[in-house]
Amino acid sequence: MAVMDKDLKNNTFRELENIVENFGQKKYLAKYIFTFIHCKGAVDISDISQLSKVFRTELAKQGYYISGLKTVRTLADTDGTKKYLFELGDGNRIETVLLLDGDRKTLCVSTQAGCSMDCAFCATAKLKFQRNLTAAEIADQVNVAEADNGKINNVVYMGMGEPMLNYEAVLKSVRILNNPQGKNIGIRHLTISTCGETKGIRKLAEEDVRPRLAISLNAPIDSLRSKIMPINKKYPIAALLDAVKDYQIKTAERVTFEYVLMKDTNDSSLHAQMLAKLLRYVKCNVNLIEYNPHPYCLFEASDRVAIKRFKQTLEDAGIETIIRFKKGRKIKAACGQLGADMIENKPQDKRGS
Ligand code: SF4
Repeated sequence: MAVMDKDLKNNTFRELENIVENFGQKKYLAKYIFTFIHCKGAVDISDISQLSKVFRTELAKQGYYISGLKTVRTLADTDGTKKYLFELGDGNRIETVLLLDGDRKTLCVSTQAGCSMDCAFCATAKLKFQRNLTAAEIADQVNVAEADNGKINNVVYMGMGEPMLNYEAVLKSVRILNNPQGKNIGIRHLTISTCGETKGIRKLAEEDVRPRLAISLNAPIDSLRSKIMPINKKYPIAALLDAVKDYQIKTAERVTFEYVLMKDTNDSSLHAQMLAKLLRYVKCNVNLIEYNPHPYCLFEASDRVAIKRFKQTLEDAGIETIIRFKKGRKIKAACGQLGADMIENKPQDKRGS
């Protein structure tokens, strides 16, 4: 028999059904537990009023509980972006960002405390890897943000951490968020973004529940990509595109390439032409992201004329391209800035390492 996770929040709907059945109870009671936790804000087993008192007492007696994130701080930018600083049960901290686009609310969730990937432009990298988040800790970022702001329409796994290095918990959180008894966020409204972990890309192609795939590319040639994204030394661009090709053979799905534009680094006309050539036969779209400077990296943002020129080159090559201009800069909530506030407060500051 599989070991049951005592944190009820860290179980998929199916797993909760098994737990309930193991107590000799009717399977349908799992629905109440799942809904109370993920839609009604239950923080304690005693809150699940649809269960009998006897069953609730028995669950608690056997060590079952409901975990929760502690909100340390919420910051709001004038452009509507919000950033949450959460504390995990063991004292580690993560950040989560809410982005508004008209009525649409997109939540950028973290999957790890810190990150081991060491991308040169990213503040989170300076925090180093602390640990993987549980599925409950990932899903709970959505629970808290939704309770605070109303329905979250999209969830992007683009916050702190590399999702493919916490694959099982990330996929479990996808199942939890997608389940109709809970948040019921459509699978096409969930996006996993990787810096290029090809094993995870291949694994994702085999899943029955499969969110959208985005790849953080940021350079069209290996020499440059290896400098700004060390993972490229392990999986060079050709290996990455091979994995994408295999993914698309299995799934026929379009992927998104993200490209953070940094002045005099990866934003020239030649870079744009090389990128267009690289992606010409890939079923994809490109998101050009305006870089957000922070004190822990030396890169600067490209000027907007260069960004628009870059976009034009890709579009001329038939690649659907959008620009994501900076949002949430005042509160350091923009792409690449997560963790910047936390570096100064880190016990052993490894800045510049
Ligand atoms: S960009 Fe993403 S993968 Fe790279 S160091 Fe930052 S959090 Fe990690």
